Amino acid sequence: MRLTVFFELRLRLSLQNTAELLNPDSLTQTGTKMGGWSLEYAVAADDKEALAFANRSFPWAREQGSPLVGFFPSNASKPYYQESESCEVADMIALAIKLSRAGAGDYWDDVDRWVRNQFAENQLLRAEWVDEVPKPGSRHKPLFNETAERVAERNVGAFAGWPGVNDWVLRKGIMHCCTGNATRALYYILGNHAAIRGRNTECESVA
Ligand SMILES: [Zn+2]
Repeated sequence: MRLTVFFELRLRLSLQNTAELLNPDSLTQTGTKMGGWSLEYAVAADDKEALAFANRSFPWAREQGSPLVGFFPSNASKPYYQESESCEVADMIALAIKLSRAGAGDYWDDVDRWVRNQFAENQLLRAEWVDEVPKPGSRHKPLFNETAERVAERNVGAFAGWPGVNDWVLRKGIMHCCTGNATRALYYILGNHAAIRGRNTECESVA
Protein backbone atom coordinates (compact mmCIF):
# COMPACT_ATOMS: atom_id res chain seq x y z
CA MET A 1 0.00 0.00 0.00
CA ARG A 2 2.75 2.46 0.96
CA LEU A 3 4.60 1.55 -2.19
CA THR A 4 1.52 2.31 -4.30
CA VAL A 5 1.07 5.74 -2.65
CA PHE A 6 4.75 6.49 -3.20
CA PHE A 7 4.51 5.65 -6.89
CA GLU A 8 1.28 7.61 -7.31
CA LEU A 9 2.87 10.67 -5.75
CA ARG A 10 5.90 10.30 -7.93
CA LEU A 11 3.79 9.89 -11.05
CA ARG A 12 1.71 12.94 -10.16
CA LEU A 13 4.87 15.00 -9.72
CA SER A 14 6.08 13.71 -13.07
CA LEU A 15 2.88 14.70 -14.83
CA GLN A 16 2.80 18.15 -13.20
CA ASN A 17 6.33 18.91 -14.24
CA THR A 18 6.22 17.35 -17.66
CA ALA A 19 5.80 20.60 -19.57
CA GLU A 20 8.80 22.09 -17.83
CA LEU A 21 11.08 19.08 -17.78
CA LEU A 22 10.47 17.61 -21.21
CA ASN A 23 11.83 20.53 -23.18
CA PRO A 24 15.12 21.03 -25.03
CA ASP A 25 16.66 23.10 -22.23
CA SER A 26 16.49 20.16 -19.87
CA LEU A 27 19.00 17.41 -19.58
CA THR A 28 17.93 14.51 -21.74
CA GLN A 29 18.51 12.19 -18.80
CA THR A 30 15.84 14.04 -16.85
CA GLY A 31 13.36 13.08 -19.53
CA THR A 32 14.50 9.48 -19.73
CA LYS A 33 14.36 9.08 -15.95
CA MET A 34 10.87 10.61 -15.83
CA GLY A 35 9.66 8.28 -18.53
CA GLY A 36 11.29 5.32 -16.79
CA TRP A 37 9.68 6.05 -13.43
CA SER A 38 6.26 6.46 -15.00
CA LEU A 39 6.71 3.26 -16.97
CA GLU A 40 7.76 1.27 -13.89
CA TYR A 41 4.64 2.47 -12.11
CA ALA A 42 2.39 1.87 -15.14
CA VAL A 43 3.48 -1.76 -15.48
CA ALA A 44 3.35 -2.48 -11.73
CA ALA A 45 -0.12 -0.90 -11.30
CA ASP A 46 -1.46 -1.84 -14.74
CA ASP A 47 -2.22 1.87 -15.19
CA LYS A 48 -3.10 2.57 -18.84
CA GLU A 49 -2.91 6.37 -18.46
CA ALA A 50 0.60 6.21 -17.03
CA LEU A 51 1.63 3.78 -19.77
CA ALA A 52 0.31 6.18 -22.41
CA PHE A 53 2.24 9.02 -20.75
CA ALA A 54 5.48 7.07 -20.89
CA ASN A 55 4.83 6.13 -24.48
CA ARG A 56 4.22 9.81 -25.40
CA SER A 57 7.48 10.88 -23.78
CA PHE A 58 9.59 8.30 -25.58
CA PRO A 59 9.25 9.64 -29.18
CA TRP A 60 10.19 13.13 -27.92
CA ALA A 61 13.36 11.86 -26.27
CA ARG A 62 14.11 9.67 -29.30
CA GLU A 63 14.25 12.69 -31.60
CA GLN A 64 16.70 14.63 -29.38
CA GLY A 65 19.62 12.56 -30.61
CA SER A 66 20.30 10.09 -33.38
CA PRO A 67 17.58 7.43 -33.46
CA LEU A 68 19.65 5.65 -36.11
CA VAL A 69 22.67 4.73 -33.96
CA GLY A 70 21.30 5.45 -30.47
CA PHE A 71 23.30 8.57 -29.55
CA PHE A 72 21.39 10.80 -27.12
CA PRO A 73 22.99 14.07 -25.93
CA SER A 74 23.43 15.20 -22.35
CA ASN A 75 21.77 18.52 -23.14
CA ALA A 76 19.28 18.62 -25.97
CA SER A 77 19.32 22.41 -26.34
CA LYS A 78 22.82 22.67 -27.83
CA PRO A 79 22.68 22.45 -31.62
CA TYR A 80 26.42 21.90 -32.04
CA TYR A 81 28.40 18.70 -31.54
CA GLN A 82 28.36 17.54 -27.96
CA GLU A 83 28.72 14.45 -25.88
CA SER A 84 26.27 11.98 -24.46
CA GLU A 85 26.33 10.04 -21.21
CA SER A 86 26.06 6.27 -21.25
CA CYS A 87 23.20 6.96 -18.80
CA GLU A 88 21.00 8.42 -21.57
CA VAL A 89 21.88 5.65 -24.00
CA ALA A 90 21.14 2.97 -21.40
CA ASP A 91 17.90 4.64 -20.26
CA MET A 92 16.61 4.88 -23.82
CA ILE A 93 17.35 1.21 -24.44
CA ALA A 94 15.60 0.27 -21.20
CA LEU A 95 12.58 2.41 -22.11
CA ALA A 96 12.38 0.90 -25.61
CA ILE A 97 12.52 -2.64 -24.22
CA LYS A 98 9.96 -2.05 -21.46
CA LEU A 99 7.52 -0.14 -23.69
CA SER A 100 7.74 -2.93 -26.26
CA ARG A 101 7.24 -5.62 -23.62
CA ALA A 102 4.23 -3.72 -22.22
CA GLY A 103 2.67 -3.59 -25.68
CA ALA A 104 2.70 0.23 -25.78
CA GLY A 105 4.87 0.34 -28.90
CA ASP A 106 7.17 -1.72 -31.09
CA TYR A 107 10.72 -0.48 -30.58
CA TRP A 108 12.66 -3.74 -30.95
CA ASP A 109 14.39 -2.52 -34.12
CA ASP A 110 15.60 0.58 -32.24
CA VAL A 111 16.98 -1.60 -29.46
CA ASP A 112 18.75 -3.81 -31.97
CA ARG A 113 20.53 -0.89 -33.69
CA TRP A 114 21.29 1.06 -30.49
CA VAL A 115 22.85 -1.95 -28.76
CA ARG A 116 25.03 -2.87 -31.74
CA ASN A 117 26.20 0.71 -32.27
CA GLN A 118 26.29 3.38 -29.54
CA PHE A 119 25.87 1.06 -26.55
CA ALA A 120 28.57 -1.37 -27.69
CA GLU A 121 31.00 1.50 -28.36
CA ASN A 122 30.34 2.98 -24.92
CA GLN A 123 31.89 0.05 -23.05
CA LEU A 124 35.64 0.11 -22.40
CA LEU A 125 36.93 -3.25 -23.65
CA ARG A 126 40.65 -2.47 -24.00
CA ALA A 127 42.75 -0.11 -21.89
CA GLU A 128 46.13 0.09 -23.62
CA TRP A 129 45.16 3.07 -25.80
CA VAL A 130 44.02 5.25 -22.90
CA ASP A 131 47.48 6.17 -21.62
CA GLU A 132 48.64 7.02 -25.15
CA VAL A 133 46.08 9.81 -25.54
CA PRO A 134 47.45 13.28 -24.64
CA LYS A 135 45.62 14.72 -21.66
CA PRO A 136 45.78 18.51 -21.30
CA GLY A 137 45.63 20.04 -17.87
CA SER A 138 47.77 20.06 -14.76
CA ARG A 139 48.97 16.94 -13.00
CA HIS A 140 49.10 16.42 -9.30
CA LYS A 141 50.17 13.67 -6.97
CA PRO A 142 47.27 11.42 -5.95
CA LEU A 143 45.57 12.53 -2.78
CA PHE A 144 44.87 10.11 0.10
CA ASN A 145 41.60 9.05 -1.53
CA GLU A 146 42.91 8.84 -5.10
CA THR A 147 45.08 6.40 -7.03
CA ALA A 148 47.08 6.43 -10.26
CA GLU A 149 47.75 2.69 -10.23
CA ARG A 150 46.59 0.90 -13.42
CA VAL A 151 43.49 3.08 -13.48
CA ALA A 152 42.54 2.43 -17.11
CA GLU A 153 43.20 -1.32 -16.84
CA ARG A 154 41.11 -1.59 -13.70
CA ASN A 155 38.21 0.13 -15.44
CA VAL A 156 37.92 -2.33 -18.32
CA GLY A 157 34.23 -3.20 -18.55
CA ALA A 158 33.07 0.22 -17.39
CA PHE A 159 31.03 2.56 -19.56
CA ALA A 160 32.05 5.96 -20.93
CA GLY A 161 30.97 9.04 -19.05
CA TRP A 162 31.12 11.39 -22.03
CA PRO A 163 30.90 9.34 -25.28
CA GLY A 164 30.73 10.88 -28.72
CA VAL A 165 28.63 9.54 -31.56
CA ASN A 166 29.48 5.84 -31.83
CA ASP A 167 32.79 6.54 -30.07
CA TRP A 168 34.08 6.03 -26.53
CA VAL A 169 36.11 9.29 -26.63
CA LEU A 170 38.57 10.28 -23.91
CA ARG A 171 38.23 13.88 -22.86
CA LYS A 172 37.20 13.47 -19.25
CA GLY A 173 36.88 9.69 -18.78
CA ILE A 174 34.32 7.80 -16.74
CA MET A 175 31.67 8.73 -14.21
CA HIS A 176 30.33 5.50 -12.84
CA CYS A 177 26.66 6.49 -12.80
CA CYS A 178 26.98 5.44 -16.46
CA THR A 179 28.41 2.04 -15.53
CA GLY A 180 25.51 1.44 -13.14
CA ASN A 181 22.83 2.45 -15.62
CA ALA A 182 24.47 0.64 -18.54
CA THR A 183 24.96 -2.65 -16.67
CA ARG A 184 21.30 -2.51 -15.67
CA ALA A 185 20.41 -2.03 -19.35
CA LEU A 186 22.69 -4.98 -20.14
CA TYR A 187 20.53 -7.12 -17.86
CA TYR A 188 17.41 -6.03 -19.77
CA ILE A 189 19.13 -6.67 -23.11
CA LEU A 190 20.23 -10.19 -22.16
CA GLY A 191 16.79 -10.94 -20.74
CA ASN A 192 15.16 -9.98 -24.04
CA HIS A 193 17.80 -11.39 -26.34
CA ALA A 194 15.40 -13.57 -28.31
CA ALA A 195 12.98 -10.70 -29.01
CA ILE A 196 15.83 -8.40 -30.08
CA ARG A 197 17.54 -10.98 -32.30
CA GLY A 198 14.23 -11.90 -33.87
CA ARG A 199 14.11 -8.47 -35.44
CA ASN A 200 16.27 -6.41 -37.75
CA THR A 201 19.82 -7.72 -38.12
CA GLU A 202 20.85 -5.68 -41.15
CA CYS A 203 22.16 -2.52 -39.49
CA GLU A 204 25.00 -4.17 -37.59
CA SER A 205 27.63 -2.06 -39.34
CA VAL A 206 25.93 1.33 -39.07
CA ALA A 207 28.68 3.68 -37.96
ZN1 LIG B 1 26.13 8.76 -16.28
